[in-house]
Parts: sequence; C-alpha cells; structure tokens
Amino acid sequence: MMGRTHLALGAVAGVHLAAATPRLGLPIMAAALIGAILPDVDTPYSKLGRRLWPLSRIILMTFGHRGGTHSAVFLILATAAMWIVSPPVGLAFGAGIATHLAADAVSFGHGTRFTARGAGVPLLWPLSERKAGLRLVKVNGPLENLVILPWVTLYAVQLGWRLV
Ligand SMILES: [Zn+2]
Repeated sequence: MMGRTHLALGAVAGVHLAAATPRLGLPIMAAALIGAILPDVDTPYSKLGRRLWPLSRIILMTFGHRGGTHSAVFLILATAAMWIVSPPVGLAFGAGIATHLAADAVSFGHGTRFTARGAGVPLLWPLSERKAGLRLVKVNGPLENLVILPWVTLYAVQLGWRLV
C-alpha cells in the first residue's frame, strides 16, 4: 500500500491504544504512525526511505523491497527494542508495524519498486523468502485510493475525535 494508507491504518491502531493509556497518548500515537511506515525504509521511494535514502538504498540493494523489514522477525525485534524503553509505546510501535505487514499481505504492485513476485510479505524471512499474501488490492489503485484510504481515514478521525 501507499504511505498515506499505511499512516491511516497506523492512526487507527494508535488511537485505540492511546485510549487505553491516555497519559502516554502522544508518544503512543507517534510510535504507531512511525511503526506503520517503518517497514518501507527498504525503498528510497517511500516516505521514510526518501528521508533516509542512503540507508534505504543499501537495504534495497541488499534485501530488495518487501524483504526482511516485512517479516515477523523484524516485527518482533523492533517491538522488543521499543518495549525496553516503554511497554505501552513498544506495543503501539509493534501494532503500527503489524498493520503495515497485514496491509502489504493483501496488496500487490509491479514495476521497479517491487520484485517480480510483487504480492505479499516474506513473513518467515530469513528462513524462507516465500511471500505470503493475497493479490486483493493493487497498490495505488482505485480500491486503495477511493475506498480503503478515505474509509480508514474517516474511521481514525472519528475515533480520535471521541478521545479529544
Ligand atoms: Zn511495505
């Protein structure tokens, strides 16, 4: 999915978790949003990758897009690292990454940003490079941009509004 859709999905997770721990609302929200776009640090075309392009180029050349940063191992290690700092913030970070992996698992793309296999995520990396997922939503296609993104954004705003 596109970065904007990942951010909207991360916002839904963040708002839910911030409601559970309101005193850490802001760091929880920030962690969920950053987590939601973190896996795409593996491509210099993404929101985060553009800002960290020397790093994202190296990751892209080493693992390819939708490689190791889209795996269960990455989810667990990144969540654990943040959990040490603060368990509620770590949970939000992990939830954000999980929404990213779930969204990419049901979306597919083509062109230079994707490998030939396109769809899904390599959940069991590095044990297996096999990608798990379904070719349901075309990245940057009408279903993502006209249905999923507006619906998820409205849902996040409506949830967040109730918190304020
Ligand atoms: Zn991704």
